[in-house]
Amino acid sequence: MHLAITIDTEEDNWSNYESKPVLSNISKLLELQQMFDRYGVRPTYLVSYPVATDKESVSILRKIMEDGRCEIGAHIHAWNTPPFEEDKSVKNTMLFNLEKELQYRKLESLHEKIFESFRISPVSFRSGRWGFDRTVAENIHRLGYRVDTSVSPYLNWESYHGPDFSDRSPRPEVLPVGDPSDLDSCLLEVPATIGFLQSNYEFCNACLKTISGSALRHFRLVGILDKLNIVNKVWLSPESDNSDKMIALAESIRKKGYPILNMFFHSPSLTHGLTHFTKTSEEEKELTRRVDQFLQYMERSSIQSITISESLNVCLPKTAAS
Ligand SMILES: [Zn+2]
Repeated sequence: MHLAITIDTEEDNWSNYESKPVLSNISKLLELQQMFDRYGVRPTYLVSYPVATDKESVSILRKIMEDGRCEIGAHIHAWNTPPFEEDKSVKNTMLFNLEKELQYRKLESLHEKIFESFRISPVSFRSGRWGFDRTVAENIHRLGYRVDTSVSPYLNWESYHGPDFSDRSPRPEVLPVGDPSDLDSCLLEVPATIGFLQSNYEFCNACLKTISGSALRHFRLVGILDKLNIVNKVWLSPESDNSDKMIALAESIRKKGYPILNMFFHSPSLTHGLTHFTKTSEEEKELTRRVDQFLQYMERSSIQSITISESLNVCLPKTAAS
């Protein structure tokens, strides 16, 4: 089994769509990277337009990249990536709600900014707020991206104007864009790893969907099923779940024979007070402790670390991905 770590590398105040981007959190990546270096882990930093535009952030990340210690990919926040032609609304913060050509031009300007700042053409992508669908897939494929990681399995974001991934599993798959049989240019979807501690994912998912679609949702039944260890949905993210749960999820994914674990979180969570995941300095320390404990498990379990674009080598026949 393989482990990719994908980090939305973005401005401190991303959730305030109107404010000028502040990038104080990026320097915190230096400490985190030291931990990754100790384990020989090369993370993937998926950078937003404000990060790719900021000299200091670029110099921090570019040095790590040039040392071969990480991959740089793209992460779009539609609201702060030019051109700005759409009406300002929460709905329009989801890239997939914009018309196709405008999506493309925003994606192209992020792509070009990353090239200008890092001198590389990124091939890995995550859409901000999970705003992803077939049209976004076609657009990033047109720009030469090879791996998307914008799918959050078993989650429905429709009440946030987002997509419904409630029937998607964490298993990687080739997306039906371009010519999917042309493995030299196909687009591979590697979802963020979200799954269950129980073996029958479809049954667990159906249970939770039934509850959330019925009057039973008012009885905190999902929490009770979790407490009784009947249905445990776990995110491979130190923002949401502790290391014991993440390790149990990894073992569950291994039993299912899925080839890749994709751990995910946001760079602002490394500084407490910026996201709701780490409100206090204790929670901030706990987040890195969870990553550290998971990497100890990775070492003793012979899980191999990869960058997200190296998923192509894992998931596609060797001749095509080389
Ligand atoms: Zn983001």
